[in-house]
Amino acid sequence: MTESDSIQLSTDTDDVRKEAEELKDLIQQVRSRIDLPPIFKAKKRCFEQLDGIYDSSLPSKKILLEDNNVELSKIDSREDLMTRLSSYSTNFHLTQRPVTALGCAKHGWKDTDKTTEKEPDTCVLCCDTCGNNIFVIAIKHKASEKVINEVKKRYEAGLYNGHKELCQWRTQKCDDGVYCFPLVTIESGLEKFKGDANNIISACVKKQQALPTLCHELDDRTLIKVKYFAEQTQKEHVELDNVETAYILSLFGWELLHADIPGVKCDLCCTRKAFYLLNEPFDASRGHKSYCPYVNAETANAYTPKGFSLSRTQKISGSDWMKDVLSLEYVILIKSRDLSLSYDDALDEKIRKLQNNI
Ligand SMILES: [Zn+2]
Ligand SMILES: [Zn+2]
Repeated sequence: MTESDSIQLSTDTDDVRKEAEELKDLIQQVRSRIDLPPIFKAKKRCFEQLDGIYDSSLPSKKILLEDNNVELSKIDSREDLMTRLSSYSTNFHLTQRPVTALGCAKHGWKDTDKTTEKEPDTCVLCCDTCGNNIFVIAIKHKASEKVINEVKKRYEAGLYNGHKELCQWRTQKCDDGVYCFPLVTIESGLEKFKGDANNIISACVKKQQALPTLCHELDDRTLIKVKYFAEQTQKEHVELDNVETAYILSLFGWELLHADIPGVKCDLCCTRKAFYLLNEPFDASRGHKSYCPYVNAETANAYTPKGFSLSRTQKISGSDWMKDVLSLEYVILIKSRDLSLSYDDALDEKIRKLQNNI
C-alpha cells in the first residue's frame, strides 16, 4: 500500500465515520420526536452468553433462536410469576394504584421495596431482564374518575414501554391463564378443605389460642354443611370453641400460617395474617387481594364441579368452587347415612318378625 492509498483510506474512513455520526443523530432526533426512548446500548443477554463460547464470528441463527426460546418459555412460567408477585411489599398494597401487583408481575416487574425520596407513596419496580425501573404512584382520594382512567391507560402502556428496547417484556406479557385457581378434582378440593381446617385447629389447640371472629357472607344452607363437617372435629377437640371457624377459613382458601403461629396465609395472593395480630374481625373474603382466584371469578377461570349444573359454563371464584365441592360431598354423606339408617330399620324389622315367629 502506497502513502497516497493510505491517506485515501484514512479520508474514506473519516467520511464514513462522519456519515455514521450524522445518521445516528438523525435517528435520535426522529426517535425523540415520536417519543421513543434512546437506543438500548447494552448487549442482549444471549449475545453476552455466546461471546464466551464463540470468540470470533457472529453466533449462528440456530443458536440464537434456541436461546431466545429459553427466554420466551420463561415468560409463561407460573413459578417465576409467583416469585415476582411475592416481592410486592405491604407499602405497594396499602394504597390504591393505577395497576395491581398482579398486573405488574405479569409484565415482568418486581417490587424493590423502595420508594422515591420525594414521594414515599411511589413504589419503585424493577425488571430483572433489562434492569429498568418504573415508578408506580398512589392514586389520591380526590382524583376524578376521568383522571384515574387516564392514568390507568398510561400505566397499562407503560408496563410494556418501561422495558428497554431489546427486553423480551417490551412486546410480551405472561399469559392470563398462568395465574388461575389450581384445584381441579373434587378429591383434591375435599382433601384441602378438611386438611387445612384441621391444621388450623391443631395449631390453635397446641398454642392454646382461640380462633378469630370472622366476617363472611355464607348463606345458611352453606353454613349447615360447614357445621356438619366441623361436628366431626368438635368431638376430638372439645377444648376449642367454634371449630367451624377453621372450616369457614378453609372454605375461603386459607391455610395454616405456621405450626407454631396460629394464623392463616394464602399463597395465591401472598397474604399472611397471624391471629394474635388481629384487632378486628377477620374478613374471610376481603382478606384476600382483589385479584386472588379465591375471590375473583375472572382470574380463577374455574367452573363448577357439578356436572348437572345449568351454570357450568359460567366462570366462578375459587371459594364458590369449594362451596360446590362441599355441597356434592354433603349430599353423598347424607344419602349414605340415610341408606344405612333404612338398612338398619329393615334389619330391625326382620329381627322383630323372627322373634315373633319363635
Ligand atoms: Zn425488562
Ligand atoms: Zn388469596
